[in-house]
Amino acid sequence: MSEETARYQRYQRQIIFRELGEKGQQRLLSARVAVVGVGATGSIIANWLARAGIGYLRLIDRDFVEWHNLHRQALYTEEDVRAGLPKAIAAANALRQINSDITIEPVVADVNPENALDLLGDVDLIMDGSDNFFTRYLLNDVSLKAHIPWIYTGAIAAYGSSATFIPHEGPCYRCIFAEVPPPGAGETCDTVGVLGPAVGVMASYSAGEALKLLAHMGQRNPGLVYFDLLSNTWELFRAEKRPTCPACGLGRYEFLEAEQGTWTTSLCGRNAVQIVVTGRPQLNLERLARRLQGVQDLQLTPYLLRFRADGYEISVFPDARAIIKGTNDPDVAKSLYARFVGM
Ligand SMILES: [Zn+2]
Repeated sequence: MSEETARYQRYQRQIIFRELGEKGQQRLLSARVAVVGVGATGSIIANWLARAGIGYLRLIDRDFVEWHNLHRQALYTEEDVRAGLPKAIAAANALRQINSDITIEPVVADVNPENALDLLGDVDLIMDGSDNFFTRYLLNDVSLKAHIPWIYTGAIAAYGSSATFIPHEGPCYRCIFAEVPPPGAGETCDTVGVLGPAVGVMASYSAGEALKLLAHMGQRNPGLVYFDLLSNTWELFRAEKRPTCPACGLGRYEFLEAEQGTWTTSLCGRNAVQIVVTGRPQLNLERLARRLQGVQDLQLTPYLLRFRADGYEISVFPDARAIIKGTNDPDVAKSLYARFVGM
């Protein structure tokens, strides 16, 4: 069977969907999409986009696969947990088994003000698969500055929401979510839990919006779609552009232009803190592994170095980033980092 025939067969059922057609399929195959975060929503979004034949997918994630991900993060297996694989790598492995016809680039990194334009500036669409406000405000700034549409997806407990943002056309994320919530103010998977199918509904909806946008079909979501599985509620909140919006109204990209330095983030769904060191450092994990003393369960992979010390689990990445499990206290995490990795 020729490659052309195989390609046609793979996408045949969506090509005969009249609104998509051959033309729409060609648009999907030539599209470049970044998925920021391949956790619960991101892995479902990436799954649909890879299967539909998005020609280039960049999967960006800062985390590794854990047992408590498996009930909802549909791309991962027990073997990924045992191997300590970063989600970006495990997701790329899984999706390449599903579609070898497209290009998939995994990136193990935290999207932050320092690298956001490099990681996202060359795609046609940004899909939010993240779990925190900071990243979403940052994506919003990138979208406006680099003129790239993005689709927001949020899901927690048994409800979720989705919104499509076309830069400088209609409202932006900050027009809708004007106030930046203080740390710890929002609900997280950590505090209220989350049901897999509710995530699946919302993430699938957003993936559908992405296909519509990229293949030029159907009507765009004009506001914020909200879904609650328990009460069987679907709602559409229409939103307006705010002239006083700092981002799209006044052109202030406060999240993209945030101060550089070392910072910490508490991670959703776990008792853990991430430490990010800016300035693009490179860490030799092998050398660090040889230097470590008095630590247990040392595990060195091409992607990370992990060990236990004083009851904490510390994972260090080649970009000097670390995830410290066993605490939500940034100061405790920083002092562990200083002790074992060095600041
Ligand atoms: Zn705005």
